[in-house]
Amino acid sequence: MRVWRVQKPGPLTHRPLRLTDEPRPEPVDGELLVRVLACGVCRTDLHLVEGDLPVHREHVTPGHEVVGEVVEPGEAFRRGDKVGIPWLRGTCYHCRFCRGGHENLCPKSHYTGWDVDGGYADYATVPEPYALPLPNNYSDVELAPLLCAGIIGFAALKRAELPAGGRLGIYGFGASAHLAAQVALAQGATVHVLTRSAKARALVRVRGRLARCLGR
Ligand SMILES: [Zn+2]
Ligand SMILES: [Zn+2]
Repeated sequence: MRVWRVQKPGPLTHRPLRLTDEPRPEPVDGELLVRVLACGVCRTDLHLVEGDLPVHREHVTPGHEVVGEVVEPGEAFRRGDKVGIPWLRGTCYHCRFCRGGHENLCPKSHYTGWDVDGGYADYATVPEPYALPLPNNYSDVELAPLLCAGIIGFAALKRAELPAGGRLGIYGFGASAHLAAQVALAQGATVHVLTRSAKARALVRVRGRLARCLGR
């Protein structure tokens, strides 16, 4: 299969990623084998590739916004099911964060595309409890950014406890914010965005117009 690996972390101008040809990964107990249909590029992938984050696995394959179809099924997923592979890949299940529903804070957590190979490849594996079922009525490319930016934005929106028809203030307007804003608009919120970047302000206007077109 085709697979991208970090040859040596460094500036993108030095081409730190290399395309190689390797056998498919072998899923271990409790893992699904997934054929990758699309994989988003997250800022964290760039941090990894450029060497801003410490190396957890040498020559790792980045990519943690993975949309794929199950090739080797598990207990809850059948062959052909569409699944997402997110950043969080495993936790201890026992610490107070895991037991309290905040497993993303688990000190023993590990991550797709950092500790274990991710989705810049034809195939990837995922532990079944961390595979997310995905709907078929969206394109793979539309779904991919939801696997990291979408999860972050949605988690933040939930924590904001926005009342129905409330006002939401967003400081900065990157990948997760622009997705969270669309969810909030769809829920009937009034959204205020504060950002200095001209590019981000232009994106706010596009999203705002889109929301008005949809009658929200
Ligand atoms: Zn990410
Ligand atoms: Zn834990």
